[in-house]
Amino acid sequence: MSLSEFQIIKKFFTSCFSAAVPAKLGIGDDCALIDVPPEMHVAVSTDTLVEGVHFLENSDPYLLGHKALAVNLSDLAAMGAKPAWVSMALTIPKVDEKWLSAFSDGFFQLAQKYKIQLIGGDTTRGPLAISLTVMGLLPSGKGLKRSGAKIGDGVYVTGKMGSAGLGLKKAVANSVNPSDVDLMRYLQPEPCVDAGLNLLGKATSCIDVSDGLAADLSHILKASKVGAILEHASLPMSLSVKENIEMRGDWQWPYSSGDDYQLCFTMPETLESCFNTSAWDEIENPIRIGRVVAEPGLVLQYNGEQVVYSSGGYEHFK
Ligand code: ADP
Ligand code: MG
Repeated sequence: MSLSEFQIIKKFFTSCFSAAVPAKLGIGDDCALIDVPPEMHVAVSTDTLVEGVHFLENSDPYLLGHKALAVNLSDLAAMGAKPAWVSMALTIPKVDEKWLSAFSDGFFQLAQKYKIQLIGGDTTRGPLAISLTVMGLLPSGKGLKRSGAKIGDGVYVTGKMGSAGLGLKKAVANSVNPSDVDLMRYLQPEPCVDAGLNLLGKATSCIDVSDGLAADLSHILKASKVGAILEHASLPMSLSVKENIEMRGDWQWPYSSGDDYQLCFTMPETLESCFNTSAWDEIENPIRIGRVVAEPGLVLQYNGEQVVYSSGGYEHFK
């Protein structure tokens, strides 16, 4: 006999680690109750993953549990917020205990890393979809918004571009090899939570790269009413991505390729010495790829020539 909704929640969605900021009341009542510490904002964000749209059919449930939380934590990271609570709306076609167990393991393995507490949700039957609402904490008046980039700031990324996009190509081609770095960047992205926390009070704007660097950076440029010039030679890319774009003769591809979940931010170059502090010991230093200019739009400098970037990133309704 298949488990009831309550049995599913008890068996698969009860966490066994202590939360960074425990809720007053967690799973089990009509609402969870949370106390917001004084002088703090709650940063709230929702991201949904739908089978066939955001992930391939028959995806590995462990990796899916990880990814659902990772893409949500990435939004908290982009705001510079510390993860605190998460609520999960899970829609599944049937009760498959093996699937649920692996999904839950993938989810809680990452939840434990950041001590984020699952405080509630909803479990329904239907086509597979996972929608999470994450909540994080920020000191009052702080938060890495999209609108603060200033002329003369540097433009930075926290890591390599195009790997996840190349990984998706490999996943579609069914060349599943767990030791393939690009493929794992696509299937199991690491959210840049610590980088976001380090940038609070330093970066003038920030966004996470989910739809493609050009599209996401353009959100910053529009919100800040500025433009940017990027130096292609500075863009960090894995050797495999470099080889792939050379083979296809499409050097602009890493600007439109999505799913990397790195942060793109702007900051006065004079603050770059902060990357040498112990806060960055455990994480890769960000790389400056260009600068903010007054002229609106995005310009890519390639082999000494300037190209105005025009094609976009991923959009659902186009
Ligand atoms: P209600 O009928 O009042 O909406 P539910 O029966 O849907 O309540 O859920 C019972 C409890 O289990 C609630 O506290 C709810 O937040 C929690 N819950 C339901 N589904 C999930 C889930 N997938 N993950 C975590 N908590 C869940
Ligand atoms: Mg309900």
